[in-house]
Amino acid sequence: FQQLSTVDPEIAEVVLGELARLRGGLQLIASENLTSPAVLAALGSTLTNKYAEGYPGRRYYGGCAEVDRAEELGIARAKELFGAEHANLQPHSGASANLAAYAALVQPGDTVLAMDLPHGGHLTHGSRVNFSGKWFHPVGYAVRPDTELIDYDEVRDLALAHRPKLIICGATAYPRLIDFARFREIADEVDAYLMVDAAHFIGLVAGRAIPSPVPYADVVTCTTHKVLRGPRGGMILCRESLAARIDKAVFPFTQGGPLMHAVAAKAVALREAAQPEFRAYASQVVSNAQALTDGLAAEGMRPVSGGTDTHLALIDLRETGVTGAAAEARCDAAGITLNKNAIPYDPQKPMVASGIRVGTPSVTTQGMREGEMRRIAALIARAVRTDPESPGGADELGRIAGDVTELVGAFPAYPRG
Ligand code: PLP
Repeated sequence: FQQLSTVDPEIAEVVLGELARLRGGLQLIASENLTSPAVLAALGSTLTNKYAEGYPGRRYYGGCAEVDRAEELGIARAKELFGAEHANLQPHSGASANLAAYAALVQPGDTVLAMDLPHGGHLTHGSRVNFSGKWFHPVGYAVRPDTELIDYDEVRDLALAHRPKLIICGATAYPRLIDFARFREIADEVDAYLMVDAAHFIGLVAGRAIPSPVPYADVVTCTTHKVLRGPRGGMILCRESLAARIDKAVFPFTQGGPLMHAVAAKAVALREAAQPEFRAYASQVVSNAQALTDGLAAEGMRPVSGGTDTHLALIDLRETGVTGAAAEARCDAAGITLNKNAIPYDPQKPMVASGIRVGTPSVTTQGMREGEMRRIAALIARAVRTDPESPGGADELGRIAGDVTELVGAFPAYPRG
């Protein structure tokens, strides 16, 4: 860091500013986490210098013996941890992993059945502003209006009507468990591939806190930076029969040289995820999400689908009369970082939204438990209900920020020393 502050004091200031932001506030973005110093060390290493197009033992560059070891270790750890026949650690991100999975499984113009974006699906699941909606023919399934759960009968009806080549499950804002066996049955009935986008929850699978999609899916795509707590990046798990197609779809079809510092950092995270402490962390992530959700419900903020089985909750704010966008801004002013989110059948535009999404990976990594979740729920409720334009509103948000600082002070992110 000394070097950075000498060479580029402006960027050094950004790095320190971000560290201070992490230390001083509550991080409740469901897709974020706090990586370990070991992961950061691998990321900040000289492995970033190395060109290694290809795969271990079959590279297009010399001098790859060391990086080969890193990638081999990572692949072996992923296969062991998830019981997968094949693993590819090279995708630069979750979206890149999904692009490669499409490239391996379907042709442009093919029909793909996936969850609608407004119901919790990801952009790569058929949005018109994304390759998935432009190059493929997307058919979307929704959640039921009454239960706000996936309607498996509707998924089956749509599959029978549209005969997709690929069915995708796994979402960005769905708080409940997904019935992978049911999706497998539907995919088999119409002879489609089943891809599970486990970007959000693969860390809970690693920690044995929720069931694994690996036995059911042809391909499982992941991010490594969410609950899994690794570096920003992607990963693909698949059956041996698809291994060559997946590897070719990642490189050379959709990517060039792998980011070997990131591949090594993924290997570190996978080693950490195989430790017994990671299981305790993963189950605490879920208990914390449930405690936070219960606390918010007690404050008159309705959890979509009635609760959560995972690391995140989607909260319908309509009873409070505050939009998701206003709630996000008010919480931000109070040192609480979360995001606005559309709820199913949302009457608001996506940039306004009627809900917020909260997640517990970061606060759990910091060591917080159910008691802290109840305090956080009360702090969120105070912030959401405080209009900064109202008399005394800005002062109240300042007082909440003070309470947040006091709470996080006992659970420091990246403790000094
Ligand atoms: N898939 C799902 C379900 C996601 O939630 C996300 C990101 O949040 C992605 C894919 C894309 O991941 P990335 O942002 O790393 O490209």
